[in-house]
Amino acid sequence: MTPTRHVFALLAAASLMAGSRAEAALNVVTTTSDLASIVAEVGGDKVSVQSLARGYQDPHFVEAKPSFVVRLNKAELLVVVGRDLEIGWLSALITQSRNPRIQPGADGYFDASLTAKILDMPEGQLTRAMGDVHPLGNPHYWLDPENGRRIAKALQAKLAQKDPANAAYYAQRTADFERRLGEAQQRWKSLMAPYKGLKVITYHRSWTNFADAFGIDVIGYVEPKPGIPPTPQHTLDVIQAMRAQQIKLILVEPYFDSKTPNSIAAQTGGKVVVLPPSVGGLPEAADYLKLFETDVNMLIAAIKSVGAK
Ligand SMILES: [Zn+2]
Repeated sequence: MTPTRHVFALLAAASLMAGSRAEAALNVVTTTSDLASIVAEVGGDKVSVQSLARGYQDPHFVEAKPSFVVRLNKAELLVVVGRDLEIGWLSALITQSRNPRIQPGADGYFDASLTAKILDMPEGQLTRAMGDVHPLGNPHYWLDPENGRRIAKALQAKLAQKDPANAAYYAQRTADFERRLGEAQQRWKSLMAPYKGLKVITYHRSWTNFADAFGIDVIGYVEPKPGIPPTPQHTLDVIQAMRAQQIKLILVEPYFDSKTPNSIAAQTGGKVVVLPPSVGGLPEAADYLKLFETDVNMLIAAIKSVGAK
């Protein structure tokens, strides 16, 4: 073989490898269903994406399964919520996966919180003392559609970096997602506009970004602190606050025991609304846009049913 032929043979082999990269979908694993939905919006049929947690599970406390390690072992990109949301279950799985591509700090480890607007930033010393599971700010930030947009744009750049052959495709999908999201945001905001300033109680501190986006006011929580179960004294305080401020709605994530919220509702003439905070939390919340569609519609139906405003 002449040197020139040899170079051609190498180029042919390289282009075959590049071709197989372009044809096989990029293997993406996310920790949560919301991130999986946004990856699917941006990546289309050029990615295969699976979420470890289901949308009806508490994302702070996901039961690790052996199958998670297998999935992580094969992943080319791991997308996490970050802000310590997954601290209780993910890091051991990443280690066990023995996959150098997705270790924290590696090119295939993507922390979606880095471009998001984060609320509830703690003042002073960062600590998980007293069981507070939000030591690095509120990790439920995907519940602001504006953060969904920011995550999509950051993912577009990451997917284009991992798979440059399809960069234009990812850019076009992201633009289309942003357009649909923007139209839906206008509709959700106008639907919620009559209820601006509505005061509610929520079980966990999951709805801070949602409340910020849609103008409602969360004035208390069934949990004394994020991650700490209700106590009798704290429950009494919540009941008194609801009575004093004429608050009627208690928003509860699907994975919490409804005993305390039901008892609070019974003593205040209030109503418990089980609202999904994640894609798949209810069947109709089937993707990122439908999650907000579901939550806005359920919330408005609940407001009307109690005549809260
Ligand atoms: Zn939380």
